[in-house]
Amino acid sequence: MAGILNKEQEEDLLLRGFTRRGFLRLAAMVAGASSMPFYNEPALAQLSKVTDAPSDAVMINANENPLGPCPEAMEAVHNIVAKGGRYLYGETDKLQAAMATQEDISPDSVRIFVGSSPALHQAVLAFTSPTRPLVIADPGYEAGERAANFIGTPVVKVPLTPTYAHDVKAMASASATAGLIYICNPNNPSGTLTPKSEIEWLVANKPAGSVVMIDEAYTHIAGAPFNSDLVAQGKDVVLLRTFSKIYGMAGLRAGAAIARPELLDKLGEWGATMMPITGMVAATASLQSKDLVPTRRRLIAQVREDTFNFLERNNYKFVPSVSNCFMVDTGRPGSNAVLAMRKEKVYVGRVWPVWPEYVRVTVGTADEMKKFQIAFSKVMSA
Ligand code: PLP
Repeated sequence: MAGILNKEQEEDLLLRGFTRRGFLRLAAMVAGASSMPFYNEPALAQLSKVTDAPSDAVMINANENPLGPCPEAMEAVHNIVAKGGRYLYGETDKLQAAMATQEDISPDSVRIFVGSSPALHQAVLAFTSPTRPLVIADPGYEAGERAANFIGTPVVKVPLTPTYAHDVKAMASASATAGLIYICNPNNPSGTLTPKSEIEWLVANKPAGSVVMIDEAYTHIAGAPFNSDLVAQGKDVVLLRTFSKIYGMAGLRAGAAIARPELLDKLGEWGATMMPITGMVAATASLQSKDLVPTRRRLIAQVREDTFNFLERNNYKFVPSVSNCFMVDTGRPGSNAVLAMRKEKVYVGRVWPVWPEYVRVTVGTADEMKKFQIAFSKVMSA
């Protein structure tokens, strides 16, 4: 296929029931990777046209971390920049080793990516097909769904439970031939948790041959348990990690997939790229910072709780999140509220069709959230 896919990949696609159109699109996705329109959170945020924001606008639309990289990461980047003419593959190996040590897992169960988006997309390519659906929560993070739509994989959406957890029972029975079941914990956009015991139940009771992908992008922020133990036990799970959230490195780029080596190999067949040495050294330095995670978790929680107190005092409805974003009820079509907030120079996130009057808000700095409060009060009383 235009020289992009090899013979084994073509055969694999035919066996998995891809049509010629899906075939071509998949090849385009492998070739185009980072330029694909559904790529990641900033690309999703751009769909709501944020490129024209004034320089003094409050940007709480894309679940970024306003604290940015930690000082150790910045120093590591400064120190490596002069060596930018080299590939320095060893820096990726160092990050892989540091993550493996921290997770208490073997290094060949950790694969480094330029953020977690490429791993997420490659998992959709590797494990789903027209006959092996993608199962996701609704509302949920849309990047996997977009990749699936693009290549012609059916997507089964399962509503969250009344307590905003993933409905693992419904997800397990959503499709007897599910290829990939995607759990984001805490969930984006609701910021709510699914108990680890329920994730374990899903892994034990999923349809045969399917893979459970657990996106742990926000797990540090919630202080919830990780699932590396399931990988160590040899289960059919792929974990996604990113340095874009608590580590504040969305623009520097680093992430990882954690899984059994065979699953990582399957995923790895659908894309490969060089890692930026700046992102690699910044990520390794961030992992070595002892107090980054607890300090930032506390800070984000403080600002989030202050914002929730404001919302409660004013009788505004919101979903009680434990993450760096939350959904707030605007009592009108959410997109109208988004535009009205922009007039106040506060750029909030997008709307999910299943909750059309709710808007996602990222937790910014204390100062930014004071500006959010003023703008939100004005918009809600208009
Ligand atoms: N997964 C989730 C749930 C996200 O919210 C995001 C970004 O917002 C990503 C993955 C992708 O992050 P990145 O590619 O920056 O690592």
